[in-house]
Amino acid sequence: MREQLELLWELQKIDLGLKRIKEEKDRYPKEMKKLDEKQKVESERIQKEKEKIESLEKTRRQKEGQLSLEQERIKRVEGRMFEVKTNKEYQALLSEIDAVKEANSRMEEEILQVMDEIDDLKKDLAKREKDVGVTLEKIEAERKELQEKMVHDEKAWNEQVERKEVLSKQIESKLVKLYNTLKEKRDGVGVVSVKSEICQGCFVNVPPQMFIEVQKNNALVRCPHCNRILYWDGGRNTR
Ligand SMILES: [Zn+2]
Repeated sequence: MREQLELLWELQKIDLGLKRIKEEKDRYPKEMKKLDEKQKVESERIQKEKEKIESLEKTRRQKEGQLSLEQERIKRVEGRMFEVKTNKEYQALLSEIDAVKEANSRMEEEILQVMDEIDDLKKDLAKREKDVGVTLEKIEAERKELQEKMVHDEKAWNEQVERKEVLSKQIESKLVKLYNTLKEKRDGVGVVSVKSEICQGCFVNVPPQMFIEVQKNNALVRCPHCNRILYWDGGRNTR
């Protein structure tokens, strides 16, 4: 019985290890998704700034086009000045030219402002792109690390499952069955250690006589409170 209990204890440790690995494995897809989202947010932010610059460039081109049309207009009006007959007409053309020139100089001012704005945004964008580049590199590194962990966990999982199979075959099937039933009902723990007369599964005291029995490790003793199989591991504080 002692050997059987030792094997069962070993099996329990493997099962707890598998449980931990499974929790990790379940976590990975969520972590991956978080990284994807982070990456998306960073890329979208850059995209928005680029779009803003593009829209300002468009405004600039429109204004420049308008300006050159107005400049053409001035030339046309100037050409007509040679044809006028009266001073009144001449004055009218002059004031028309003045008005257009004034409007043009306002337009030039606006174009310069837009160009300044574009320059500033481009500078910001260059800086941001650099920052985002660093962030994206970090995300990529995290992703790689996560993938490595996944591979590692997958390997550990397979190894433990294999060990479990070998071990299970060495234990009486009746005992394995009992253990599995208990494990299922009791939060993945079918065998527990006892420390200072306290069951480490439910943390309730076991009777002193039973504690003595458990320490011998040569009989199947079960906790009167939680029903788990009790195991003496030398008083260490592990399950
Ligand atoms: Zn108990």
